[in-house]
Amino acid sequence: MDRSDVVAELEKLARDRDSRDELAELRNRFTIPDGVSYLDGNSLGPPCRTTSAALTELVDRQWAPALIEAWERHDWWSAPRRVGDRIGRVLGAAEGQVVVGESTSVQIFNALTTGCRLAAGREVVLVDADHFPTDLYLSRSVTRLLGLRPLRVPMGDAVGALDEHGDEVAVVFCSAVDFRTGELADIPGVTEAAHRRGALVLWDLSHAAGLVPLELDTWQVDLAVGCTYKFLNGGPGAPAFLYVSHRHQDSADPVLTGWHGHRAPFGMDPEYQPAEGIDRFRIGTPQVLSMLALEHALAVFDEVTTVRLWEKCGELADFFRHCFAQLCGDLDLTIVTPADPARRGGHITVHAPEAARRWKALAERGVLGDLRNPDMLRFGLSPLVVRFSDVVRAVTELADISRTGAHLDDRFGGSGLMG
Ligand SMILES: *Cc1c(COP(=O)(O)O)cnc(C)c1O
Repeated sequence: MDRSDVVAELEKLARDRDSRDELAELRNRFTIPDGVSYLDGNSLGPPCRTTSAALTELVDRQWAPALIEAWERHDWWSAPRRVGDRIGRVLGAAEGQVVVGESTSVQIFNALTTGCRLAAGREVVLVDADHFPTDLYLSRSVTRLLGLRPLRVPMGDAVGALDEHGDEVAVVFCSAVDFRTGELADIPGVTEAAHRRGALVLWDLSHAAGLVPLELDTWQVDLAVGCTYKFLNGGPGAPAFLYVSHRHQDSADPVLTGWHGHRAPFGMDPEYQPAEGIDRFRIGTPQVLSMLALEHALAVFDEVTTVRLWEKCGELADFFRHCFAQLCGDLDLTIVTPADPARRGGHITVHAPEAARRWKALAERGVLGDLRNPDMLRFGLSPLVVRFSDVVRAVTELADISRTGAHLDDRFGGSGLMG
């Protein structure tokens, strides 16, 4: 069979699967430009079609008429808790353990310092060696601030390192999904190994929340953080979330103490008295506009479970591999993401020399993926918006570009724009 027949067959297979996919209708809730295959929802989810109307309504019907009274009349005050509980459902967390607000780095800082204080007397923070840069920078700066020692360990060695150094470890701080390779960590396994040695865990769920079926309560996770603009589709700059298990809330002593986290916020007390429960992890005035856009985007998760989303994501990943085997087998491309469904997250990473050039050439053909310089192409498989036909298109274009050398054209030179 020649290549065009192979492609035609894969396209037919994709059409069949799209037509049988009961989640396909959910794509219509989101705005994606015509002709674009969007394989970067793991970096920035697309907007809901109704988000702009919801934001306009918020400004015109809440903020403008009610002004300062909107905090009470429209319940802006409780939004960090309310939206937090909504995210909690996606994380497998009972109510009262998640708060939303601030940026991801602020929540990481607050969570990590909190964990270290809860585990006082222990000297080491065990850090995922392949953690996202912010997480690595903050783990270094927090350990320096508190006089502790960071120990960077690849996720595959985390359990072994805990067996060796466990008694010294205060907090194990890892990513649920490796942002480069798309590898999924063994969250319950690492959590249990940490607990066996008396350490706490802090998971960064940025690439997992809204996709991977999570059971934070069941797994007895201590602390977790994440951004909300990836698979949760909250929009650029949407506030981050922080999960603190009920078990730790009363003894937690947050470093970032603001008036919203005070027991009596309107008492304007010169001395800080922490609020009960998760409220003590509120800090200051939250980003209400972004938070309500996020709340709006979360509505879709009332209609579909992460179990089903995860299942479709796995089907997309298997289909990607199938197309790749048929079309890219003889090219200078290799999938680095594990094939085992238990070990892969929501994106597939392809090792490709001169990845930036191929990434730009793909974008020119309407396939928006992502780039991790110097040699990794990432294809996000957000099951809410990615169709099987997007997958076959991405792999076909990648194969075509690579086979013809189209990416070697001068216009694809220079460094990556958003890498
Ligand atoms: C996306 C991501 C972040 C993002 O941090 P921002 O401060 O929101 O830019 C942090 N950590 C991980 C693991 C991520 O995947």
